[in-house]
Amino acid sequence: MARLLTYLLVSVFVSPLLAQTKVQRPFMFSGKTMGTSYHIKFFGLPAPHLQASIDSLLEEINRQMSTYRRDSEIAIFNQMQAHTPFRVSDDFFSVALIARNVYAKTGGAFDPTLGLVVNLWGFGPEGRQEKVPSSSALKSALDKIGYDKFKLNTKDFTLTKPYGEVKLDFSAVAKGFGVDKVAEYLDANGILNYMVEIGGEVRTRGQKNGGQPWIIGIEMPIDKGVPAGLIPVTPGDQAMATSGDYRNYFEINGKRMSHIIDPRSGYPISHNLASVSALAPSCAEADAMATAMMVLGAEEGMKLALKENIPAYFIVRSQNSYIKQPSPAMLPFLRKEEL
Ligand code: AMP
Ligand code: MG
Repeated sequence: MARLLTYLLVSVFVSPLLAQTKVQRPFMFSGKTMGTSYHIKFFGLPAPHLQASIDSLLEEINRQMSTYRRDSEIAIFNQMQAHTPFRVSDDFFSVALIARNVYAKTGGAFDPTLGLVVNLWGFGPEGRQEKVPSSSALKSALDKIGYDKFKLNTKDFTLTKPYGEVKLDFSAVAKGFGVDKVAEYLDANGILNYMVEIGGEVRTRGQKNGGQPWIIGIEMPIDKGVPAGLIPVTPGDQAMATSGDYRNYFEINGKRMSHIIDPRSGYPISHNLASVSALAPSCAEADAMATAMMVLGAEEGMKLALKENIPAYFIVRSQNSYIKQPSPAMLPFLRKEEL
């Protein structure tokens, strides 16, 4: 009886405490995906097969959306003829729809049909060439772009393109989508306090250390002579993605040629916006929106952030320093000293 009582007392009073202390345990793992690295941190119970499952989930996204794989769904679609409906996987179709939404919202600044142009500038799977493409090649590629010319059939999950040569490029949205898939996987497995990051695109949920909010950093652009630093952001149960011109670029006569292309001109962006970070409930949307605002530049990008009430943080180059411009919707997620 005494033993039973002790057992009951332990199970009633101690077990919940034990469970709570267990919930506090941090776990961390990282790996490689989508040509970059990922990091996952969570608080919860040990989950032995989690990393293997997440690795295969990310592998599946690569198999669908990597333009660097000849056998990926996107690569096969890109080789298809015009006007032939192509049945894609559910995830691929979801990304195609998110992309359509952001394309429409941003007046085509985000355009996932830029593959041909991205390749001409040497930022695609065909490899780096560090030269300006011929104007005739650019013109012929620009004539074929425009996501509104693609048909997305929601009844049978097919995509149809208007020209055989035109190529989809989901690079500005796929990392964010990968973050969302991992986050949803963690949700489904009862892990409700986590931070998921792929190549700088992040989504957080819940808390860390049993009550502290997750804080993620916006990196200051890495330009010569300007000190590095991080701007702390508390996103809550949201995602943050950043697009910048300071990591992937080459120079011609001192002019920066960034991997972000303005679909209106077919040229790499040329303005003084160095980076922009956007918050959104889904990381895919944050990722695509950040790229769109990067295309638009500080002024037009801020107009879009105001119109759509997007929390966004613009870092603008000015001589040997930077001007930090948060949109009004971003203010609640920043520390007071950053305002
Ligand atoms: P991100 O780093 O998310 O801004 O994505 C940049 C990548 O997206 C580039 O390497 C290109 O493959 C592709 N890209 C470039 N310009 C655009 C654009 N205007 N809209 C959509 N994707 C783009
Ligand atoms: Mg992006």
